[in-house]
Amino acid sequence: MHEFSTAQSIIDTVIEATKKLSIEKIIEINLEIGEFTLLNYSQLRFALKTLAKNTVAEGAKINIKKLRGKIKCLDCGYEGVIRKKSSTDHYLIIQPSFQCPRCKSAKTDIVGGREMNIKNIKLKLKE
Ligand SMILES: [Zn+2]
Repeated sequence: MHEFSTAQSIIDTVIEATKKLSIEKIIEINLEIGEFTLLNYSQLRFALKTLAKNTVAEGAKINIKKLRGKIKCLDCGYEGVIRKKSSTDHYLIIQPSFQCPRCKSAKTDIVGGREMNIKNIKLKLKE
């Protein structure tokens, strides 16, 4: 499952980054995830909670900020968010071709929405 492997790499990164510090535990993990990653946010949150068990990240609060997908139109230069037909639409990004909302051109590049960033983590240091 996509969410579990992503969650595993997030947990690994967080643990690796805090390894040299004398920490008691991780209180909060703040993530920024683009909507084009196709990750299911609640499944990702669940996977993170599960994988954090028996690590310094156990019980940490997981905050996920969703980043909107953005395109740039090669015809008219429009750059901005795409319009969804409905909130349940899912994107298939094998061959991305989103229509420009301004000029209807299909010649567009994806310029945002594929991010998967660990923005920061909040720690409790050992006394
Ligand atoms: Zn355009």
